[in-house]
Amino acid sequence: MAEFQKIYEALKWASSFLRENGRDENIGELLLCHYLGMSRSKLLAELREELDVDVKEKFVIAVGETVAGIPVQHIMGYEEFYGRRFLVNEEVLIPRPETEELVQGVLSRIDGLYTATESIKVVDVGTGSGAISVSLALENRQLDVMTVDIAKASIDVAQENAERLGAKVRFIEGDLLKPLIEEGVKVDVVVSNPPYIPEEDISTLSTVVKDHEPLRALVGGQDGLDFYRRFMEEIPLVLKERGIVAFEVGIGQGEIVAEMLRVAFPDAKVEVVNDINGKDRMVFAEIGF
Ligand code: GLN
Repeated sequence: MAEFQKIYEALKWASSFLRENGRDENIGELLLCHYLGMSRSKLLAELREELDVDVKEKFVIAVGETVAGIPVQHIMGYEEFYGRRFLVNEEVLIPRPETEELVQGVLSRIDGLYTATESIKVVDVGTGSGAISVSLALENRQLDVMTVDIAKASIDVAQENAERLGAKVRFIEGDLLKPLIEEGVKVDVVVSNPPYIPEEDISTLSTVVKDHEPLRALVGGQDGLDFYRRFMEEIPLVLKERGIVAFEVGIGQGEIVAEMLRVAFPDAKVEVVNDINGKDRMVFAEIGF
């Protein structure tokens, strides 16, 4: 067993073990906070304390699993998103910080374009863990949020997250916008973080992603753009005369998806927005305003 007693020694051991194996060295800190039930600031204030043997044992096992490629979120069972804790498992994409920027972009546009008393119907396509739909519902009580996913197993996870966090969201099992088209439902806002990775790029992804997250949430066909193409056919059938479309996109896809939106909605104001790392990551269209 690894030779250490104190918290700071455990962190030092973990970060060098993780670094040597090409994993994020900050994971040790996350895991210790998790097993000790402490915030990061509490952990840093207790660096000289000794670790209990059982915590030490769990920690060493978890660091080993991380080195073997298991996502730390699967070991802990959750990821933080927009200030809340979302349960995750291998059936859902682990929410990414970039997607918080998509949620933020949707909320700020709604604030700017609608009055505070209107009821606004939103559909999030590709539910996953429920990160987007649940966050939107909790951040703005005006929103009437529904979300569609093709996989029942993902909806189960998202539904549990909605219940635990007290969000009112309608969950629909189905293929993209088909259930809404069939029901004749019209919405004000369509938001989606669809699978957008080109097929041939999958082999280049880290094992942490490609072997542990659902490929159905990652791969967007040969060029990664399959789902955006389908959206251009289906969104006009569900969007009201005035509406917002918000997509997350992969690096280098921003201008292509923006152009698709300009063709589908000639009078739209379309905007490509970079994420905090300066990568094109979101495309927004404001239509009919
Ligand atoms: N951002 C994810 C990744 O890089 C991909 C998410 C998606 O395809 N929508 O792993």
